[in-house]
Amino acid sequence: MNIEKRIDELITIINNANYEYYNLDSPSITDQEYDRYMQELIKLENDYLEYKRDDSPTSRVGGKVLENFVKVTHKIPMLSLGNVFNEFEIRAFDEKIKKEGINPKYVCELKIDGLAVSLTYEKGILVRGATRGDGVIGEDITENVKTIKTVPLKLDEEVDIEVRGEIYMSKNVFEFLNKDKAEKGLEMFKNPRNAAAGSVRQLDSKIAASRKLDCFIYHLPNPKDFNITTHYESLEYLKRLGLNVNDNNKYINNVEELIEIINYHTENRHKLPYEIDGIVIKLDNIDDQQKLGFTSRYPKWATAYKFPAEEITTRLKDIIFTVGRTGQITPNAVLEPVLIQGSTVSRATLHNEKNILDKDIRIGDIVVIRKAGDVIPEVVSVKKERRDGREKEFKMIKDCPICNEDLIKKEEEADYFCKNEMCDAKKIEGLIHFVSREAMNIDGLGEKIIEHFYNMGYITKISDIYILHNYKDELMKIAGFGYKSINNLLDSIEKSKHNSLEKLLFGFGIRQVGNRMAKTLSKKYINIDNLINASKEELNSIHDVGDVVSSNIVNYFNNNDNINEINNLRTLGINMEYKGEINSTKTNNNINNKTFVITGTLSIPREEIKELIESLGGKVTTSVTKKTDALIVGINPGAKYEKAKALNINIWGEEELKLNIK
Ligand code: NAD
Repeated sequence: MNIEKRIDELITIINNANYEYYNLDSPSITDQEYDRYMQELIKLENDYLEYKRDDSPTSRVGGKVLENFVKVTHKIPMLSLGNVFNEFEIRAFDEKIKKEGINPKYVCELKIDGLAVSLTYEKGILVRGATRGDGVIGEDITENVKTIKTVPLKLDEEVDIEVRGEIYMSKNVFEFLNKDKAEKGLEMFKNPRNAAAGSVRQLDSKIAASRKLDCFIYHLPNPKDFNITTHYESLEYLKRLGLNVNDNNKYINNVEELIEIINYHTENRHKLPYEIDGIVIKLDNIDDQQKLGFTSRYPKWATAYKFPAEEITTRLKDIIFTVGRTGQITPNAVLEPVLIQGSTVSRATLHNEKNILDKDIRIGDIVVIRKAGDVIPEVVSVKKERRDGREKEFKMIKDCPICNEDLIKKEEEADYFCKNEMCDAKKIEGLIHFVSREAMNIDGLGEKIIEHFYNMGYITKISDIYILHNYKDELMKIAGFGYKSINNLLDSIEKSKHNSLEKLLFGFGIRQVGNRMAKTLSKKYINIDNLINASKEELNSIHDVGDVVSSNIVNYFNNNDNINEINNLRTLGINMEYKGEINSTKTNNNINNKTFVITGTLSIPREEIKELIESLGGKVTTSVTKKTDALIVGINPGAKYEKAKALNINIWGEEELKLNIK
């Protein structure tokens, strides 16, 4: 294995997952998969220090601040937590603390699966609520926090205090909201965590209020200012102030008690009215905590035990096929309904033919299902010992289940595709994708409604969406579609006309052009015509664009139907220009031809700083040498800071960086 390449690959996977999880509230991989990638990266970086990258996600808190919120700088950074996954690692965590000469007592807390919040009270009155963001800068969500009933607006004492906790959505509320969404044909929330995160980041606090969120408080960042010497005491104090502290917090005397309580919660966690994804173990004594300190990502005096993925067995009754927007055929298991993590599962993905054959999955088998992180459940393995001979071997279909056209499969790919451009299933999925939040973000056109409108002939291609207003009177007669909802829908369609190019481009659903790629292309080509005219070679020269993607793009624009649709959209007034910031080509004497190194946590993501410096003619490297012109320093700088000082190199904080790039 090429270690450096694998590290790069893992960083790309993790950065993408972070973006989907923290920015879009819509993960596409499970938490367990994410944790596995992270563990692999940590191990490789430990074993091959020379390949550890400065911008590695292992050394910073995931998450990014959304632009449309007021930013809040945390006086004390809001960090993440380290992880342990089994008894061996729990004992190793305990041993490491003992090696520092500490006799550890702990507090065990439920790891509530929501999102972290910081609450500031002045003279006992709630004045601010903020998200964790990137750990240094969070988003001001005060108005939304005020709608949460379990957050007191006034404390029982007139203190000035910052406290931290977790905003979450209870299982009941989650199920209720999703049922409602399903009935209205709207896209459902993936899990309570993502639902809570999305709700708290609503600009309209009325929407946040309607989501009925809750909050537990579990941390006082500066206990010594209140003459408090242990974490347990601080929890008691927070309770006395009237804050909602979880009743399951437990004082723990030794590692045996720790393992016992973790086993208890692992068994009983589903009885709780909210989701937990682990148990947090915190060293109790504050002096001991301070002695151990922090890394750039998490405190060394605490860790989170993460529950293993949940696996449950059931019978696979049949295998059916669905057709995605790119024509991709996915085999799905029809299951005897089974309850996993509080919800009934009757379908699971089987991914593709190869996966089924590799695992030797047959119709009638007893299979192991996993629904980790509440993303689409999957069939993990087969209980072959439970076969009775009546199971039927799997045979891949040859024709599209919707239009009967031949399926095609490229040698190097595992998936089959329907080759019929006019396939109804592909078109419906394509339309659903076009209106989705990350694409054109048209509210009020859920999956069921699109399917209905498609079957009735109102929307058969994307440009039809923009002439839907012609059918206003007819649409109002459709059950469930009142005057108000039609007007909201038409407003939302109208608004989407002004989206920046990348949303439209992502909406086209070109294979392997995800929202990041769409942004890269939009930034580079500024308008759709430049992109249409770009050659394969030119596209290939863009960082991140490989051979397959460039072929997909060129093929898409070589198709006359697609070009006709683009022209229709243009006539209907849809914006086809990139509206974001464009890399400037201007130079700046403070930056031009100079070499920079970045260290520590900054409020602006490193990639952005790097892009900015490069756009002004400078260069960013990873190690400090005599040739370095300036070291840009954030919070918790590493050894580079000492080295730069020793070499007498300019040191710029964030403010100086801003002044120099003006
Ligand atoms: P984390 O969830 O592992 O742990 C830190 C967080 O735990 C804190 O910020 C806080 O919000 C929360 N928490 C809940 N109860 C707590 C308590 N009693 N005391 C202290 N903290 C408590 O770390 P993270 O950085 O927030 O997220 C990383 C995790 O998120 C990953 O391990 C993974 O499970 C998930 N993730 C998944 C994806 C994906 O694509 N599926 C992507 C990114 C992150």
